[in-house]
Amino acid sequence: MPTRSDTICAYQVRQKEIPVRTFNLNRIPLQDEVVIVGGGVAGCAASIALARKGRGVTLIEREPAPRHKVCGEFLSGEALEDLRALDIDVAALGAAPIQYVRLAAARRAAEAPLPFHAASLTRKALDTALIAAAIAAGVRVERGCGVQRLARTAGNLWRATLDDGSTREAPTVFLATGKHDLRGHARPRDPKRWVAFKMYFRLAPSQAAELARASELMLYPGGYGGIQPVEDGIANLCCVVQQRYLARAGHRWESFLAKIQRDCPHLAMRLAGAEPVLAKPIAITHIPYGFIRPTTEEGLYCIGDQAAVIPSFTGDGISIALHTARRAVDAYLASEPAPVFQAKLRSAMLTQMRLAEFAADGLNNALARAVLPFCLRVWPGVMRVTARLTRISQHAVVAPHAVAG
Ligand SMILES: Cc1cc2nc3c(=O)[nH]c(=O)nc-3n(C[C@H](O)[C@H](O)[C@H](O)COP(=O)(O)OP(=O)(O)OC[C@H]3O[C@@H](n4cnc5c(N)ncnc54)[C@H](O)[C@@H]3O)c2cc1C
Repeated sequence: MPTRSDTICAYQVRQKEIPVRTFNLNRIPLQDEVVIVGGGVAGCAASIALARKGRGVTLIEREPAPRHKVCGEFLSGEALEDLRALDIDVAALGAAPIQYVRLAAARRAAEAPLPFHAASLTRKALDTALIAAAIAAGVRVERGCGVQRLARTAGNLWRATLDDGSTREAPTVFLATGKHDLRGHARPRDPKRWVAFKMYFRLAPSQAAELARASELMLYPGGYGGIQPVEDGIANLCCVVQQRYLARAGHRWESFLAKIQRDCPHLAMRLAGAEPVLAKPIAITHIPYGFIRPTTEEGLYCIGDQAAVIPSFTGDGISIALHTARRAVDAYLASEPAPVFQAKLRSAMLTQMRLAEFAADGLNNALARAVLPFCLRVWPGVMRVTARLTRISQHAVVAPHAVAG
């Protein structure tokens, strides 16, 4: 049986170094009920909920510390509600409030108020807070070593084999590795070969003032991008593009950024005089938009992006990660078998996912790009309708520990 030793980790919460004791089981064999693979939004949320119910949970996260992730960092109303139930106060972490959505294509832009409270917060800050909350709830967090393989043992347990060759076993595993697939549990290939970039900018003061409280969606051939303020006065520019369109820009970020500014003058205006904050953008490939996991094996609950991948323009992936984590925990606590849970989750999400995909296809259509902002000026309510239709709408039950936010 594997053993563990003491680990002290330092977590940076808004500039402050807080030493945190992650676990202290001095060479006691593992006796966990649940192993969670992946300590992002879904994995942390599930681990907190299980630990609060007194369950023994080990969370395995391959990164030694939270880092920047490719994400638009928009937190929808549902996401905020779920985070509040986990005692995550995004305002205290410096999240920027978002009240409007603006759509820009070619030379037109249209604005509509959001039908719910929203915010935006860097993933680094959010993931840091979630891991700290998991530790505070009593979750044993192991970081800095990823899971390489997940397989059934002869004794009907799940065995996770880590990069260092050590193993962890439990009757139940929650798979929450986000965009990273584990061998044997991979999602289908992404036929459009999406590439996504995230870059932070410090905008010129007049542009920062224009962007305040707004999330702007920009359309261009082969994809779309979003720009919005996050904490500490910076703006997040996050873009997706199909690889064949990126090829036209020589597969280079600088050329791609120049091209989308030519295609979308609104973005060029926002970025005039802006200073990049990171040395280079963060990028990912292979995003299987529209994927919903149809089934799973006994004892393996798939959550977050491992359950479903909604098109990014909806800004709903974090909400889905929290929602699927909550539903999986409820199912596990009610002894609902994982295959039953996964099938129910799929049918509950199918309509929203298909609508979001349909809308995403529309955004990539040249005619739609030309007329959409004009239509939205005439009828801005369509944005509110789209926002509602593409959202998951089951609300969080506030846990006993939760504080009013
Ligand atoms: C371009 C783009 C823009 C987006 N914008 C938004 C937005 O504005 N708002 C929104 O709500 N959603 C957005 N999303 C979606 C959102 O980022 C995801 O849906 C959400 O992060 C999924 O959460 P998760 O917990 O499943 O995965 P993650 O939060 O990615 O966490 C997965 C974790 O698993 C760890 N891991 C991976 N492999 C292993 C392994 N083998 N062993 C151990 N650990 C492992 C990773 O290090 C990571 O910490 C966007 C997505 C993209 C691609």
